[in-house]
Amino acid sequence: MNRRKLVAGNWKMHGVADDLAEVRAIAAAGGEVDVALCLPATLIERAARIVPDFAIGGQDIHRADKGAHTGSVSAAMLLDAGATLTLVGHSERREAHGESDADVRDKAETALAAGLEVVLCIGESDAVREAGQAIATVTAQLDASLPEHPVHAIAYEPIWAIGTGKIPSLDDIGEMHAALRERLVTTYGEAGKGVRILYGGSVKPANAVDIFGIPDVDGALVGGASLKAADFLPIVAAADAAR
Ligand code: PEP
Repeated sequence: MNRRKLVAGNWKMHGVADDLAEVRAIAAAGGEVDVALCLPATLIERAARIVPDFAIGGQDIHRADKGAHTGSVSAAMLLDAGATLTLVGHSERREAHGESDADVRDKAETALAAGLEVVLCIGESDAVREAGQAIATVTAQLDASLPEHPVHAIAYEPIWAIGTGKIPSLDDIGEMHAALRERLVTTYGEAGKGVRILYGGSVKPANAVDIFGIPDVDGALVGGASLKAADFLPIVAAADAAR
């Protein structure tokens, strides 16, 4: 199946009004790939106003539709602000906020029900990789996190590769993505072939061509290198060239 590549940026807790110029520059990217930016909640509405045809996402949602959840953002709030997608299950949420696979699955269900596209993140620690358990652990994490209906993308992000400059070998990425594809097809049947599998973790202009050349890599989730158009646009161009 020919899946359109997706390159999504995750700005994490970075970005104020002055940085909207970067959003504007990134939104102008040409090519036949989907591009999105998952912004801090405070920037979503302003970004959606200045680049209305560009995909703006959130980085997390609360599993509940509304209620007494101080500091949290609901799926309806993201949509209301102009977002069309959201991340769920990023390892920084799983680790720092104790989110379990069941929590992530609930959030994915809530987001899909509200009409947001979902990028669901999974990935192993370095101890798990060292112990030779990466595939077993990440596929189990996927099985336990997937909602009933297919998500739009999953992002395989080894925790030890996020923000460290380290990436797995290209063979290891390929092996993981093939195992994840198998699980998606087992879970969703034919529809599992349409779910994009992104790689995330220290994707840079210098390694993007190699990463996008791996079979079953359908794009990337990019943290640090998505903050500046000068870093992000060459990654988008590499995805476009790998179509
Ligand atoms: C991320 O946080 O999703 C990520 C991939 O970060 P970085 O690209 O900075 O490693």
